[in-house]
Amino acid sequence: MKVRNYTTLGYSCLLCGVARENTIKVFDCSGAAEFSVCCPVCGIEAVSITNRGSGSYEVALNCGFCGENHVYDVPIHTFWETEIVELTCPEHMNTVMAIGDTDTVREVISSWQDIIGFDLGDDFPIN
Ligand SMILES: [Zn+2]
Ligand SMILES: [Zn+2]
Repeated sequence: MKVRNYTTLGYSCLLCGVARENTIKVFDCSGAAEFSVCCPVCGIEAVSITNRGSGSYEVALNCGFCGENHVYDVPIHTFWETEIVELTCPEHMNTVMAIGDTDTVREVISSWQDIIGFDLGDDFPIN
C-alpha cells in the first residue's frame, strides 16, 4: 500500500456543475475534529469531513449530480492511503466522489465528462 502525505478528492461541484478536485495534506488535517473542502473556483463547501474518533471519517458530500447531501463512512487509513475510493450516489448509482491518488482520481472524474462539464484548472500544486 502506497503511503501519501496528501489525498485528492474529486467531486462534481453543486454550484459550478463541473468536476473539481482538491488536494489536501495530512498535516493540515490530522488532529482536526472537522475540516471541509471547498470548491477552488466558486468557494462553496463541497465536502465536510468529521473525525468520529473511532478510526473513521464521516464524509458528507453535497452531491453535484442529484443535489442531495450524502454521508459516507470512510476509514481514516483508507482515506489517506488507498489509491482510489469511489463513492456512489444512491440516486444515480454512479460514482460521485473519488478519494485517493491524484492521477487516479483525475481518471475517474474525467470519465464524468459525458455527464457533466469538466474543468480541472491548472493550479493545484502538491507541496
Ligand atoms: Zn464550484
Ligand atoms: Zn447524489
